[in-house]
Formats: sequence, C-alpha cells, structure tokens
Amino acid sequence: MFGGGSIQLVRVFGIRIGVDVSWFFVLFLIIWSLSGFYSDLFPGDDTKAFGLAVVSALLFFLAILLHELGHAVVAIRNGIPILGIDLWMFGGVAKLGRDTDSPGVEFRVAVAGPLVTLAIAAICFGIGAALSSADTVLKGSRFEDADLSGAVAMLGYLTTVNVFVLVFNLIPGFPLDGGRIARAIAWKLTGDRYRATRFAARLGRLAGWAMVAVGGLILAGVIGWDVITGVWLIFIGIFLAQAARSAETQAAISGQIDHLRVADVMDAEPVAIPAELPLAQAEGEYFLRYGWPWFPVVDTAGRLVGVVSREAVDSVPEAVRGGRAIASVMARDDGASGLRAGLEEPLEALLAHDGLGRLGAVMAVDGDGVLRGIVTVEAVRRALRGALPA
Ligand SMILES: [Zn+2]
Repeated sequence: MFGGGSIQLVRVFGIRIGVDVSWFFVLFLIIWSLSGFYSDLFPGDDTKAFGLAVVSALLFFLAILLHELGHAVVAIRNGIPILGIDLWMFGGVAKLGRDTDSPGVEFRVAVAGPLVTLAIAAICFGIGAALSSADTVLKGSRFEDADLSGAVAMLGYLTTVNVFVLVFNLIPGFPLDGGRIARAIAWKLTGDRYRATRFAARLGRLAGWAMVAVGGLILAGVIGWDVITGVWLIFIGIFLAQAARSAETQAAISGQIDHLRVADVMDAEPVAIPAELPLAQAEGEYFLRYGWPWFPVVDTAGRLVGVVSREAVDSVPEAVRGGRAIASVMARDDGASGLRAGLEEPLEALLAHDGLGRLGAVMAVDGDGVLRGIVTVEAVRRALRGALPA
C-alpha cells in the first residue's frame, strides 16, 4: 500500500531502513514549526533555534526508528522475517514477512514498540531532570519561558513527543499497536485469529472516525488546539479507518478459505509433457491439440521437472525439432522457482505465490515431487468468490 517506493537510508542488523518521499515533507514541517518554538525560547539567536530544531526533529525520527526496531527484533526472535522498516508521513512501519502464528507472539511483537518508546521518554526525562530539575523539563516540554539550556529544552520536547507517540500507538484500534494488543487478547480468548482481527479492525475504524471528528472540532474552533493538529488528525483518522477496513475484509476472506488446501481447488487431471518427448511430437500432440501457451514437464516417474512454453519450442528451427527433446528447451524447475506448491499447503499461502503472477498457475506436487494437479488463477478466483461475504 505504501513504502513500495521508499529510498534506502541504511541497514541495521541486516534490516533495510527506508524513507518515503512524504517523510522529507514531514521532516521539513517539523523543523519549521520547532524553529518557531525555539526562537520564542531563545529570542535573538536564530542559529541556535534552527540548530536545536534540526537536531530535535532528527532525534524524534530516531526514536520512531527505535520503536519500529523494537517490533522488528522481537518478530525476528520469534521466527518472523522482516521485509524492512519504512519511515513515512505518519511515522514508521515495520513490515512483517508473514502474519504472527499465535496470540502470544502477536502480543509480544505489538508491545515491543511501545516499550521502547516508553524507555526513550523515561531516559529523556531522566537526563533532563538530572541536568536541571523535573519541573524545568516539564516547562521545556511545553516550550514555556523558563531559564533553560538548549539541551534541557530539547529533552523536554523529546519527552513530550515520545509520550504522545506512546499514547497514540496504544489506542486500541487495529492496525495501531494498541489494536494489535486487542487482537492478541481477543485471539487468545476466542482461539480464532480472524474473528479477533475483525474485532480489532472494527475498533480501528471506530478510532479512525473518532480522530476525524476530533480533528473537525479543532478546525471548527470547538477544541482549542492548533490547526495543524486538527488537519493531521483528520488525515491519519481517514488512513487508519481505511487500513482497518481492508484488514477486516482480508480477515473475512482468510477466515472463509482457511480450511481450503491446494488439493481442494486444483485441477486433478493435469496434462503434462514427458521430458524426453521430441519437440516435433510435442508440438502436434500438445500445443496444437490443446492450444495452451505452456505445459508442465514430467520425468518417467511423473515428477515435475519444469515448464515448457510454446515460444521455447518455436525458437528451435523446424528442421531439428524431431531430434531434440522437450527437456532441452524447458524452464527447469528445481523447486525454488516458485512454480510448485504442496498438496496440503493452505490456499491462502498460494495467493502470494510467484507462479500465479507469472504463469497464471501453480503446479501441485505430492511429497515425492510427483505432479498431481494444477491450480489456475481462475480456480483460485472461484474459491475466493465462494468465500466473499455476500
Ligand atoms: Zn508500533
């Protein structure tokens, strides 16, 4: 949905850290507004105000990054791969390679981020208080005129902003962290991950529209917060409600096709070409007869060894087609090419399969690698259509 076109900044523990273009815009906006606050605190020293604003904004994003790394590290420890972390307009996203497989793991991954943020807020407050006093840090956090040093003002800001990030993320609406925690609890109680997701996503939609409403009240002047906060709440509320809605639909479909395996939807009488068959014969007996653009290729034991296309056969000069076997022109499948799936694999796992996108089909093989069927996009569509809520 987003982060696809992100620019890579660095790699941390092998995790790709990227930023979306929208991030630069927000960074600029934050530096700009912080410059204003700091010049009120330190009038007459614009260089100092601007320097503090830049450092504060960068430290704020570092805190967000550490929050996401918290999620990522716990996910990796629980065997879930991380595709990368992206920073964008509304903060950060740690992209999980797959869904968590138990409510316990879901809970641990979800709380890891907020715990990191809590620790950062506590550390900033602690250092600030040690440098001055607790009261002064709080004044700094509100950019109130007090006799503060630049460092204490900045620590005050970082304390507040991290407390805000903490509270915001703990709002119990999926896909926010609080919503993931709610999902983990509902999952634990019901034992049904999809029902739990739908429940948490409904809360997410509710939270999203509540934010839009609060944003609207701010813009209307009913709530006396600043306009930027109002606009930001409306945007993030809409985004949250939409993300929650798509999670809800996804969970509804997944819940329906959960029991379906590859063997349930495949065409169990696949037409395959023997690997040793001469090209000329394959052309007449398969390509011309069926009119299909490609066929799976099997060895004498019926094991899937590759896929051959019409173009591959056509690329060989006609004069030599009688003397060459299919095996010489097929795309060999060693099991890692994403063309095959196990009979017992869940249908849901197939949706992400490479073969479906490239060939429009996936070969279903048994434990010995013997071709047992073909799952076409059409067959998957039919199964999904049956599953869609009316
Ligand atoms: Zn988080």
